[in-house]
Amino acid sequence: MKIGEYLKEKRFSLSFEFFPPKSQEGEEELFQTVARLQSLKPTFVSVTYGAGGSTRDRTKRVVERIHRETNITVMAHLTCIAHTKEELFEILSGYKAIGIENILALRGDKPKDKPDFTPPEDACRHAEELVSFIKAHFGDYFSIGVASYPEGHPESPNMEWEIRYFKRKVLAGADFSITQMFFDNRYYYEFMGLCHRADINIPIIPGIMPITNFRQVQKFASMCGTEIPQRLIERLEPYADKPEETLKLGVEFAIEQCLDLIENGVPGLHFYTLNKSKATLMVYEGIKSALVGLA
Ligand code: FAD
Repeated sequence: MKIGEYLKEKRFSLSFEFFPPKSQEGEEELFQTVARLQSLKPTFVSVTYGAGGSTRDRTKRVVERIHRETNITVMAHLTCIAHTKEELFEILSGYKAIGIENILALRGDKPKDKPDFTPPEDACRHAEELVSFIKAHFGDYFSIGVASYPEGHPESPNMEWEIRYFKRKVLAGADFSITQMFFDNRYYYEFMGLCHRADINIPIIPGIMPITNFRQVQKFASMCGTEIPQRLIERLEPYADKPEETLKLGVEFAIEQCLDLIENGVPGLHFYTLNKSKATLMVYEGIKSALVGLA
């Protein structure tokens, strides 16, 4: 199923993001998570791609296994900054050959462990170029998603810049977008306002991260420029070393956040699961009555 077509019918999308584990043991744990979350009948799940192409084979293996062993639609993330065009063509052809129809087209970041890294000469320098490359070589075979940043990408000097380049990805052929995680819905609503004014009309699915480890999320949020609202810090900080309390409070907050987003008509919810099912299942319990009749 093509995600873009599903969303065009104004149907609500529920999705989960996984990363490809490093070990066989991790992969088996992931597939237990997938099995548990499958009961929620997700619209799709997605599998991330390591910086610099480091997870190339693992991403493909996990994507292929989910596609083969379950009936869930899978979207493969693909970053372009470290690949030649020939490599990109080969990876995309491989996905096409096994029937994967959805790609999240990303630029990615320079690998942190390779300070001297320079992109291959003919690399796509921005996600927009990757979207154009996919369209040029595969036509409408793939439904293409792109990333968006309600609080601005760390490299964007301001929101005007952010919107200008986001629009270019959309004009290049993106069908939908998934946002960076955010904890203050006002950023998403403001971003949607800016998009409408710029005539960007693709579905933009909010990315939700239920907090299960406060210090880890604080670190991650500061890396990607996501603000953690003071009221949330005040709620979570006293319990930072108490995993059960953190889980309870993190889930409570994610439920409040999702209910507000659903009430305001979002096209779907995309959960960053970190390959675990517990928090996502708990959030789902808290929002499922609000989802009735939406899909
Ligand atoms: P781009 O859209 O290319 O934008 C990056 C920056 O460049 C922005 O500031 C933009 O404004 C600017 N820009 C864009 N085009 C131009 C231009 N023509 N000229 C000048 N400036 C320009 N990373 C991974 O490594 N693997 C993953 O699987 C992964 N999954 C992700 C999933 C989601 C939902 C999100 C939100 C992010 C994900 N990322 C992933 C992180 C992403 O790779 C980084 O945020 C990266 O820094 C930017 O990627 P992008 O595709 O948004 O880049």
